[in-house]
Amino acid sequence: MEYDIIIGLEIHVQTKTESKMFCSCKTGYFQEEPNTHVCPVCLGLPGALPVPNKRAIELCILMGLATNCTINKEIHFDRKHYFYPDLPKGYQISQYKEPICSNGSLTLPSQNKIEIERIHQEEDVAKSTHHTESSTGKEYSLIDYNKSGVPLIEIVTKPCIRSARDAKDFATAIRQICRYLNISDADMEKGQMRCEPNISIQEKGKWEYKDGKILSIGDYKLNAKVEIKNIGSITAVEKSIAYEVKRLIEEKENGKEIMQQTRGWNADKGITEFQRSKETADDYRYMPDPDIPIIEISKQDIDRISKELVELPEQKIERYTREYGVSEYASKVISSSKQNSEYFEKLFNKLKESLDEKEAGIQAANWLMGTVYAIGKDVDINDLALLIVKFKEGKITKGIAEELLKDCLENNKDISDELNKFEKSSSENANKLEDIIKEVIKNNQKAIQDYKDGKTSTMGYLVGQVMQTTKGSANPNEARNILEKLLK
Ligand code: ZN
Ligand code: MN
Repeated sequence: MEYDIIIGLEIHVQTKTESKMFCSCKTGYFQEEPNTHVCPVCLGLPGALPVPNKRAIELCILMGLATNCTINKEIHFDRKHYFYPDLPKGYQISQYKEPICSNGSLTLPSQNKIEIERIHQEEDVAKSTHHTESSTGKEYSLIDYNKSGVPLIEIVTKPCIRSARDAKDFATAIRQICRYLNISDADMEKGQMRCEPNISIQEKGKWEYKDGKILSIGDYKLNAKVEIKNIGSITAVEKSIAYEVKRLIEEKENGKEIMQQTRGWNADKGITEFQRSKETADDYRYMPDPDIPIIEISKQDIDRISKELVELPEQKIERYTREYGVSEYASKVISSSKQNSEYFEKLFNKLKESLDEKEAGIQAANWLMGTVYAIGKDVDINDLALLIVKFKEGKITKGIAEELLKDCLENNKDISDELNKFEKSSSENANKLEDIIKEVIKNNQKAIQDYKDGKTSTMGYLVGQVMQTTKGSANPNEARNILEKLLK
């Protein structure tokens, strides 16, 4: 049997605000003492009232604008009920029927367009850890409410993703947008971004995708979908989906029914594991939160937030390749981080003062991806531009430029001083080299005669003689040029 893979992604992102979603507790809790960033609101004490965080809502709207969503004119908060110790109120404040952002899209590097169903605002829950007492073997759990109430946005795609690779690329694109727009650092290791794919396999030709839904054709019975939790990295998004697809196909081929369920990704073993059968929306008893009034969003609000939009990687790749002639590969690498692309653009602008635009683009990309990455330190843009121009004028080699840069960085020297010294000593060396070459010519009269008789291959031998006399310190190209000049 042949199957199609159907994937939807839910991505939670902790947004970068000073304080929590509904109280004034500070958010930066990483490596802080447990339960030190708490108050009656985020501990869920009776009678405490939530006050929505304006900045958090702006960041949610900003993410919506960056992903071509429609922004709702009213903001509604709802209660999503379930019981767990990490949720002391017994409900999470979230959004149900009316999310802040809806119907967006994002185009991946593969040109596949991913449809975004919604982006809604909610709050994070506390962190629980499970332990075993070593002396008695007794199990116990600890809970830290520092994370409780941290602003969280949830990005939900339609089930329109057709490969593990596209799922990975989408998660990567979302992370890039978060970082470019300073919505979040989206550090998955710190739990600032969490991905939960839902996956199903359906027989080819037996289903259709319509209005964001998967529908069966004829009397075909759709297979249930499986959701994967605890994914801690972007690579694990791709790996866990690939694993799960293979498992689902095996289940079907062994004649088993696929049950709707939630599974966890075990990164150490590289497998997914059964956790629980999945709740449906009805189980959460959603209701409007009576503690929070409806908030209106004006056109002025949207205009103000739009000013925070900057050019995103997708657009940068397009501009670098089309306008600057940079290769697609290099454009992708450079624009994958905001820092790199800022460096590239500054270097490009500096080089444009001396080189033509295409040359400036290509050189900036080459040197950024070669020299700057290799040195791995902050290379001053003016210093680097100076060296690149000297290189283009044929005054120095790339190797020399790198040595000069390293020397100046390590020993805190001035690049133009060092460059002057180098040029002075290399012109002295050139004079010396010319003397050596005259000597070589004098001592190799037979080879010279052969060369003059048209046996041009003798040149290689003569250059070899120069290299031998200088113990390999001469530049062979330079030696060849001087030889040709003198023999004319
Ligand atoms: Zn609080
Ligand atoms: Mn959620």
